[in-house]
Amino acid sequence: MTAVAENLALVRERIARACGKVGRDPREVKVLAVTKTHPPEVVEKAIAAGCDAIGENRVQEAAAKKPLVRGFAPWHLVGPLQRNKARKALELFDVIATVDRAPLADLLEGLLAPRNRSLPVMVEVNLGREPQKSGVLEEGLHALATHIFERCPHLQLVGLLTVPPYDPDPERSRPFFARLRELARTLERCFSLPKLELSMGMSEDFPVAVEEGATWVRLGRVLFGPRRT
Ligand SMILES: *Cc1c(COP(=O)(O)O)cnc(C)c1O
Repeated sequence: MTAVAENLALVRERIARACGKVGRDPREVKVLAVTKTHPPEVVEKAIAAGCDAIGENRVQEAAAKKPLVRGFAPWHLVGPLQRNKARKALELFDVIATVDRAPLADLLEGLLAPRNRSLPVMVEVNLGREPQKSGVLEEGLHALATHIFERCPHLQLVGLLTVPPYDPDPERSRPFFARLRELARTLERCFSLPKLELSMGMSEDFPVAVEEGATWVRLGRVLFGPRRT
């Protein structure tokens, strides 16, 4: 086994333990391998090890890396998307998990419609109201979801993503994870949706996120060691 495969096995055990605590089925929890700063060979190891998808936070970096990666996995964009990178992002990514404003949704819709391509997206919510972070504030979520449903027929809203304020104590992230779950349940009721994905939890706090309902955990360091830049 590669080191990445061993690390993934440990991660899956920790996911199973967290699921056991709250009576969830561990098969509901998928691992997004966040490969930023790591070379294409590392992405290949993540795919070979059986990570469910690859995550990158910068379009440029993914553009340089993805053509060099052998092996198939869905790619998720988990970093903020600027207007001028939207077209490129659509070439590279299968899911854009950081839609956080109506104009960005409209821009994506305008690029997708002529190709008649449907794109799964997640809405990023800035639950900690941190000015330096992207993500819609929670009071804007309903309006953004409405906009996507009514005006962007080529965007499929499949989930919500959040990055809580940094705190070394994972228990301090728990209320943010619980809040994202509540917001998802509210949207599901309002719009009669099937269950939304919850993309939450990183290397330091993913077991807590799983206890609170995460269906995607986004993991870098716990799989690959320290970032390389
Ligand atoms: C880098 C990154 C991660 C993974 O972080 P680790 O702490 O290395 O697990 C998860 N989500 C996003 C949005 C990231 O940018």
